[in-house]
Amino acid sequence: MLNRLADHGIDRSRVSKNAVAVIDKLRSGGFDAYLVGGCVRDLLLGVVPKDFDVATDATPEDVRRVFPRVRLVGRRFRIVHVRMGREVIEVSTFRRTLDDEEDAQPQHLSEEGIILRDNVYGSIDEDAFRRDFTVNALYYDPVDDVVLDYCNGMADIAKRTLRLIGDPQQRFREDPVRILRAIRFAAKLDLEIHPATHDAIAPMCEMLNAIPPARLFDEFTKMFMTGHGEQTFELLCRYELVDILFPLPPDGDVVPRLALASTDRRIKEDKPVTPGFLLAAFLWPEYVERADIALAEANGSRQRVAAAEEELSRSVLAAQQSTIAIPRRHSWFARDVWRLQPMLDRRTQRNVNKLLAHPRFRAAYDFLLLRIEAGDAPEDLGQWWTEVQTREGHDPDARPARDQPRRRRRRRRRSSPAVNNPEFANGGATPR
Ligand code: ATP
Ligand code: MG
Repeated sequence: MLNRLADHGIDRSRVSKNAVAVIDKLRSGGFDAYLVGGCVRDLLLGVVPKDFDVATDATPEDVRRVFPRVRLVGRRFRIVHVRMGREVIEVSTFRRTLDDEEDAQPQHLSEEGIILRDNVYGSIDEDAFRRDFTVNALYYDPVDDVVLDYCNGMADIAKRTLRLIGDPQQRFREDPVRILRAIRFAAKLDLEIHPATHDAIAPMCEMLNAIPPARLFDEFTKMFMTGHGEQTFELLCRYELVDILFPLPPDGDVVPRLALASTDRRIKEDKPVTPGFLLAAFLWPEYVERADIALAEANGSRQRVAAAEEELSRSVLAAQQSTIAIPRRHSWFARDVWRLQPMLDRRTQRNVNKLLAHPRFRAAYDFLLLRIEAGDAPEDLGQWWTEVQTREGHDPDARPARDQPRRRRRRRRRSSPAVNNPEFANGGATPR
């Protein structure tokens, strides 16, 4: 049932002028258009939205007629990006779920029952019900200043509750990534997961194994690199979901937690962060555990130990790829950070010069500080390196632990998707 609410508490001045301009223009073209999803939810909760999405009854082709210079993204699931100055407004056409007998064709569902494509256009109320959580299914009309609520999202906003629309087990089965989204929104927005949604997580969580690794990498960056990584990790632990994402030995959570706390801090301070550093921290406990065996076999010779370390890091990172597709430059970053750890133990002048010149020195030093905080390396070693940098004219606080700038390369469009799920042909983007 539709509720039209004029008394909603959205502060209109916080709505992007560009998004309103896009809506105005679509309406002048005879179409219906609203703000939708995360931005409406965030405005209602008093959080600054990170971007503004528009839902409309105009098809992508219609949108292109209204805004001639737009970008159509996604192949099966097409969205239009309208650029307004430096802001990109994402415009998507109302869609519906393929849920009745006739729609559930094999090409729409995987063997596990996961939705592979959902680009069938629909009406606004159908569009509301195919969304994940009630608080994500609210539409805001900035012209009349009203909220349209089809799924009782406003009541859940008021109670700060995160509730799946429809039958929770079925909605998680259709798209198990919604489990991670539930954790992420609960952590970021401090929402309580509704009991029925909560109860469906444990029985459905194994299904996350069927998600293409490229999509999990996308979700990984959203969970851990948007400023609420520590709380997200905490909730993942509480729901016993960490093991599905990473191999974490018992009591192996200390370094990952410290790395997330430092990443969250850096994001608040507007400093750059990189997935490679977090990856190094998440997989460090596994690396250390396996190193005991691998290095004992190497028999002490420095060359053989180095070769064994190299082989071990390759193997730990390769195993991770089967769950989360980590772009190679990030795995290389993690491998370098690990490789430099034993070198930080050698306090000779020759070694100091070599390390200070290494492009990953700063990240390796930051990583050493984490290990010290975790009680995994001697405290005086950190102080020693801090002093060395000051003495050598390197400011230990100045250079950020960042990824090397990416070389711009012209890439040919891929002719076939990297993963077997057609929905993710555009590089593992989240279906919406
Ligand atoms: P944020 O961008 O702040 O992380 P968001 O809610 O905007 O949060 P997006 O991933 O940008 O999240 O998705 C936009 C909207 O699309 C969501 O609010 C939701 O309505 C819908 N949506 C996204 N992913 C799914 C999904 N897996 N299943 C159902 N609906 C989804
Ligand atoms: Mg969004």
